Amino acid sequence: MDTILDLNCLVKEIKGVGPKKVKALENLNVRTVEDLLFLFPRRYEDRRNIKTIQNLINGEKASVKAKVIMIVKSNFRYGKKKTLRLLVEDETGTMEVVFFNANYLERTVKKDSVYMLFGNVSVKDGKTQMIHPDINIWEKGDHGEILPIYPLSKGLSQKDLRKWQTSLNKLKSDLKDYLPELCLNRNKLCDINYALNNIHFPKEPQKLKAARFRLIFEEFLMLQVGLLTLRARNEQEKCGIKFGKNENLDEFLVSFPFKFTKGQLRVLNDIICDMESINIMHRLVQGDVGSGKTAIAQCAMYKAVKNGFQAVIMAPTEILARQHYEGFKKQFRAFNIEVGFLSGSLSAKEKREALEKIENGDLQIVVGTHALIQPNVKFKNLGLVITDEQHRFGVEQRAKLSEKGTKPDILVMTATPIPRTLAVILYGDLDISYINEMPPGRQKIITSSMSHNKRSDAYEFMATEVSKGRQAYIVAPLIEDSENIDAKSTNTLFEEITDQFKHYNVGMIHGALKQSEKDSLMERFYSGEIQILVSTVVIEVGINVPNATVMIIENAERFGLAQLHQLRGRVGRGKEQSYCMLITDENMEIAQERAKTMTETGDGFIIAEKDLELRGPGEFFGIRQHGLPELRLADFAKHRDILFKARDEAKMLLENDPYLTETDNLLFKERLERMFSIERTNL
Ligand code: ADP
Ligand code: MG
Repeated sequence: MDTILDLNCLVKEIKGVGPKKVKALENLNVRTVEDLLFLFPRRYEDRRNIKTIQNLINGEKASVKAKVIMIVKSNFRYGKKKTLRLLVEDETGTMEVVFFNANYLERTVKKDSVYMLFGNVSVKDGKTQMIHPDINIWEKGDHGEILPIYPLSKGLSQKDLRKWQTSLNKLKSDLKDYLPELCLNRNKLCDINYALNNIHFPKEPQKLKAARFRLIFEEFLMLQVGLLTLRARNEQEKCGIKFGKNENLDEFLVSFPFKFTKGQLRVLNDIICDMESINIMHRLVQGDVGSGKTAIAQCAMYKAVKNGFQAVIMAPTEILARQHYEGFKKQFRAFNIEVGFLSGSLSAKEKREALEKIENGDLQIVVGTHALIQPNVKFKNLGLVITDEQHRFGVEQRAKLSEKGTKPDILVMTATPIPRTLAVILYGDLDISYINEMPPGRQKIITSSMSHNKRSDAYEFMATEVSKGRQAYIVAPLIEDSENIDAKSTNTLFEEITDQFKHYNVGMIHGALKQSEKDSLMERFYSGEIQILVSTVVIEVGINVPNATVMIIENAERFGLAQLHQLRGRVGRGKEQSYCMLITDENMEIAQERAKTMTETGDGFIIAEKDLELRGPGEFFGIRQHGLPELRLADFAKHRDILFKARDEAKMLLENDPYLTETDNLLFKERLERMFSIERTNL
C-alpha cells in the first residue's frame, strides 16, 4: 500500500525515490514533500504547437520534433569553443543543430532517437539551423501539452520530476489553503490547489497566469507580513535609552580634518534626535561609497560614550574592522576615549584581555568582526550598536549584537544603494536616512571597458601611473586557476605581474591567506611599500588608500554591478585623478550593457536599479542572507505591481488582526512562522 504523504514527509517516502535520487534532490535543496511541491518549473515548453522543419521561419523561437540522423563531434575550435553538430530530420526536411561546449550532450545524444528541440531558428540560403536549443528526448504521449521544465541536478531527469509531481496530486487536492479567504477574495487569487496544479501542469496559458499570480502574491505577502511584524516588535519595545546632551559635539566635529557635508550633517541630526529620544533607534544610513559614513558613526559613538555608555561597531571583514580600528584610535585619542579591537584572529591572550576590558567597561568603544556576537562577549553597559556595510549581515546577526546591551540604539550603515521603494520594503524594520552628496573635490573616476586582447594597454597605463608614485589594484575572480571556470586567478596574475613589472613591488591578497599575512600585506600597501596589489574581492568593502588611483578588474563579467561599483570605489579617494578599467568578454550582450552602465555613471543608485534589472533581486539582496524566506517566483523588478498590492494586503491583514490569532488566520500564521528562519516573540 502506498504511504499517505503529507507535506512534512521526506522525499524518500515518495514511490520511486531511492537513495541516489534523494541525494540529487538535496542538491536542489529539496528534502521534504513540501520542498518538492514548491520546486517550480523554470519554464514551460508549449508543445501544442510543434512546427515542421519546412515551416520554420527565420528568427522565430519554435519547437520541433525531429530524429537525429548524423552526429558530428569536433574538437575544432569554432572561435574558441568546442562544437557538437547534429543533423536532424522530420517528415518535411532536415536541419542542422549546433551546440557549444556540450560535453554532456556528446555523451548522451543518440543517433536515430527522436528529440524535442526548442530554440531560435535561423534560415539562411535555404539552410535551416538551430544554435544551442533546449533538447529533450521525445517521450510518447508528449503531444499537445504545456510541459514543465524543472531545474535539474545530476542524476535527475525531467521525467523523474514530472512523475513525482503527478504522484503528489492527491496531496495537492487535500491541501487546505493557508491564505485567509478574505485575502483570496479581496485580491482575486485562485486557491492553492488550483495554483499548484497549474504551476506544474498548466492546462492553458491563462490558467498558468492565474497560478503564477497567486504564488507570486503569496511570496510577497509572506515577506511583507513578516517584515511588518518585525517592525511591530520594534515598536512594542519602544522604550530604550534616552541619551542626554552631555557632550560638546561641535568640539568633536572640528577635530576632523574636513568640514562635514550638508548631507552628513543632516543624517547626523537624524541620529542625534533618535538618540536623544526615549525610543530605541533603528536607523539605516545609506550613503554611496566614500560619502563619509565612518565619520558619522564616530560622532554617534562619541555621543554615546560621553553619556556614559559603551559603543560597538561590527564590520563584515577583518580587513575593514582593522582599518576602522586604526582610524578610530587616532580619532578618539585626543578625547581620552579607549578604543579596543576584537576578532577571531587575536591570540588567546589578546582575546582574554579584550573580553575583560569590554566587560569591565575599560574599553568605551569596541571595533570588531563577527567575533563580537559570540556568547562570551559581555559588555558593561552597551548603549549603541553599529553594523557597517550591513548587506553582509543577516537580521539575526544584527539582533544578536544588540542583545549584548539593554535595548541599545541601533545604527546600520550600508553602501549598497538600494532603490528607495525596495529599501522601504526590505528594511521595513528600519528608519532610513540618505547621505545624498559626496564630499567636495571628489573627481569622477574615469572608467573604461576593454576586451581581453586589449589588456596590455590597461597594464601599460597602470605602470605609467605607478611610475608617478601612485598605487594600483588588480582584482580577479579566482584565487587559483580552475579547470571548469574560464577566468583569471590572483595566483596567475601575481606571477605575470611580478614578472612583467620587475622594478615594482607587487603584493597579493585573498581570503585564503592567514590573518597575520593579510594584515602585513595591507600595512605594506597602506604605507606605499607595495605599489601594485593583486586581490580577490576581499578588498571590496571599505578599504581606504587615497594614493591608489588605478583599479583593474579582470573578468568583470563575473561581478555584479553593485560589486563593481564597490570595487571601483577603492580608487578616487584622494586628490589625484583615478581610473577604473574593466576587462571583460565583450561578446556577451549583458556584459556589454553592464560595462556601458559602469562607464557612463558613477551614481550608485542608478547602478543599483540597473543591477536589479539585469540580475534580479535574489542575488542582489542576498534575500537568504537576510534570514528572509526565499522568493521562488517573485521578482522585485518585474512584479512591482503585485508587490505593492501584496504590501497593501499585508497592512490590512495586520491592522485587523495584529497577532494573527483569529481562526481564519491561523494557518497563515503557521506557515509564516515556518517560512521565516527568525524566532519571533510576538508572532
Ligand atoms: P564610506 O561612506 O564609504 O564609509 P568613508 O567614511 O570611508 O566613506 O569616507 C571616505 C573618505 O572620505 C575618508 O578618507 C574620509 O576621511 C573622507 N571624508 C569623509 N567625510 C568627508 C568630508 N565631509 N569632506 C572631505 N572628506 C571626507
Ligand atoms: Mg565605510
